[in-house]
Amino acid sequence: MKCRKCGGTAVLELRRHNAAFCETDFVEFFRNQVREAIRRHRMFDRDERVLVAVSGGKDSLALWDVLLDEGYRASGLYLDLGIFDYSVESRAKCETFAAARHAELLVVSVAETVGAPVPVIKEATRRPPCSGCGLSKRYLMNRAALEHEFPVVATGHNLDDEAATLFGSVMHWQTDALPRQSPALASTHPKLVRRVKPLYRLSERETAAFAFVRKIDYIVEECPFAKGATSIQHKEILNRMEDASPGAKHNFLFGFLEKARPAFERAEAVTLNECARCGQVTTGTVCAFCKLSDQVKRAR
Ligand code: SF4
Ligand SMILES: [Zn+2]
Ligand SMILES: [Zn+2]
Repeated sequence: MKCRKCGGTAVLELRRHNAAFCETDFVEFFRNQVREAIRRHRMFDRDERVLVAVSGGKDSLALWDVLLDEGYRASGLYLDLGIFDYSVESRAKCETFAAARHAELLVVSVAETVGAPVPVIKEATRRPPCSGCGLSKRYLMNRAALEHEFPVVATGHNLDDEAATLFGSVMHWQTDALPRQSPALASTHPKLVRRVKPLYRLSERETAAFAFVRKIDYIVEECPFAKGATSIQHKEILNRMEDASPGAKHNFLFGFLEKARPAFERAEAVTLNECARCGQVTTGTVCAFCKLSDQVKRAR
């Protein structure tokens, strides 16, 4: 197998691109895909500070690595979910990475802001852990960005994540979720920062290979609550389709973004208010995060 670029020995074959690359040219291919994502969706400019949400996993650390090497002023945000050893180890990975790269890392604790860590929130609400966790993450990312004056939050969602989310939404025809599925979400309110996903053009296998080649030390274990999540089942289905027909995931996601998504964008915009309690954005009077922390406090 020969590298498409230099003709040297290839280490990785990318069937959906009908190409193979040596280490050096794969790294360049990967960075090019990120550059293309940023350019195409006008994610951020050179002079803007970017807050990268890092979990300690391969995707978010790979993203931070690329942005730093590209010369962006990228700081990390680690949300400590309080999920047993998983959180302790993943936080350590982020701290080690930040120290090695002399980059700023902000840490926000869910236990301190919501009143309890994710496993206790799960008990208090009697809902799946990912429900309280996901809500808290979205809220705290936005709040941290506003407090520290970052205009944009970047997350490490890759092609597999995005295709699996789309698959889940389509399976249930969640037409509300479809317009929000995008590599870049604009700010629609002064208290809502932009959210972007610069890795949406790269597969999970590609980010894993990039992290390996770049010797990024990341947490390999998944969150213990991820087991049995429907998103993982959807990823497995899509992987089988990809094996049978390379490019299937790419075509599914990119076809949606180019051809179908505009049809689901609602003509009338949703009205956003400021939460009466915390001042963050909500469609009601009190935001879901404040309601969640009330519920957690009552239960304790
Ligand atoms: S899998 Fe773990 S980290 Fe991810 S949303 Fe669920 S509880 Fe949170
Ligand atoms: Zn090469
Ligand atoms: Zn609130």
